[in-house]
Amino acid sequence: MSIVTSAPPASSVLPPEDDLSVWPASTDAAPGGDLSVGGVPLAEAADRFGTPLYVLDEDEVRSRCRMYRAAFPDADVVYAAKAYLSRAVARWIREEGLGLDVCSAGELELAVTSGFPPDRILLHGNAKSPEDLRTAVRLGVGRIVIDSATEIARLATLVPPGDEPQRVMLRVVPGVVAGGHPSIRTGTDDQKFGLSLTDGSAQHAVDRVLGQPGLRLTGLHCHIGSQVTTVKPYLAALRRLIGLMARIRDQYGIVLPELDLGGGHAVAYRPGESALDITALATRVRAELADGCARAALPVPRLTLEPGRAVIGPAGVALYRVLAVKHTGGRTLVAVDGGMSDNPRPALYGVRYAPRLVGRARTAATTAMDVVGRYCEAGDILAADVPLPDDIHPGDLLAVPVAGAYHLSMASTYNMVGRPPVIAVSDGTARLLVRRESLSDMSARDVGE
Ligand SMILES: *Cc1c(COP(=O)(O)O)cnc(C)c1O
Repeated sequence: MSIVTSAPPASSVLPPEDDLSVWPASTDAAPGGDLSVGGVPLAEAADRFGTPLYVLDEDEVRSRCRMYRAAFPDADVVYAAKAYLSRAVARWIREEGLGLDVCSAGELELAVTSGFPPDRILLHGNAKSPEDLRTAVRLGVGRIVIDSATEIARLATLVPPGDEPQRVMLRVVPGVVAGGHPSIRTGTDDQKFGLSLTDGSAQHAVDRVLGQPGLRLTGLHCHIGSQVTTVKPYLAALRRLIGLMARIRDQYGIVLPELDLGGGHAVAYRPGESALDITALATRVRAELADGCARAALPVPRLTLEPGRAVIGPAGVALYRVLAVKHTGGRTLVAVDGGMSDNPRPALYGVRYAPRLVGRARTAATTAMDVVGRYCEAGDILAADVPLPDDIHPGDLLAVPVAGAYHLSMASTYNMVGRPPVIAVSDGTARLLVRRESLSDMSARDVGE
């Protein structure tokens, strides 16, 4: 259901801004027609910290962690740091008892230097650099997920003889199509991640890992894609992985104790969109695991899950100030002070958002308008065809919910505009987590004449 295909005459578009279903649970009405998140009025936060501004609801992140732990009490739940990571976020994740999945030496160093136990960290990556691997072995990460045959020997040489073997998992391509967009489908043979089951590369890699005394194979991993809305593809992937575990047992007499089903759990970005039902996922994965292992006469392995977006996405709100309003070609364009450099997702994947006016009461009727960014690309459109009040004007504030995942972690400094700050809100207080990137931050790197 999109506004484009089902749009009634523009003047009668209903105000979905009254629907707060995709906002953090703490969202509430605030004086003057504003909204508050975590007890902090958004207009107040915008005045104090400037715009664009990213607001993270700490309690929303924590309650999502707890929801996962309650749904999967016997599994390891590992937060995918690439969705968004800062020192405070690493602490919340640690305090809630989750592990961390990182994909670079940078994410790894940040996590460990902010007190994250290395043992609870997994390292991923289809092309891990020598620096990534060295850092992982030096810091003693719990698992390294092997993604290619060449990585096996390269990693083995980094483990000093006589040391404890490095525990590794193998990333397997289960041959399952899932995910909200071709760029985020990672379960099939035609993309860059993992080792194929169908052409035998996964089986070959098992052989190579078992031949390395410096490595200990603890289990198999798969990650089928992102924004996956149904449970079924996970069950299909699970069956394939159990099949490979049984073949490994038959061939080598080894029973692998772990199985990692990756992440990819969908969230709703707009009211009415569907999210993956985590309770249903837990129930059906547990049943499939028990049945599949019983059929294959395997003990049930310890399960790992790697949610990123579903932990932090809905906890974030992006705030923008309107800088210009233009009426052109029969459309109204609302230009804001951020855009594709803090949120590249609409340009990358065509993702749709539901921005709304905050900071003042909405009295005028609404019309479908396009919210555009400030960057020098015609494709810098944050949200097309969204209903906004007719009297929208420069100085107004727009808020975009579900802004916590894959915005700032993918942000750039395009047009030499510094990246926005991040604040945490909780119990009526706001505190700065990451400050705005300054011109001097950017020019400090420019060391040539
Ligand atoms: C990106 C990624 C995740 C997290 O994906 P989400 O869609 O954010 O849940 C988990 N595991 C791996 C290996 C990933 O690459």
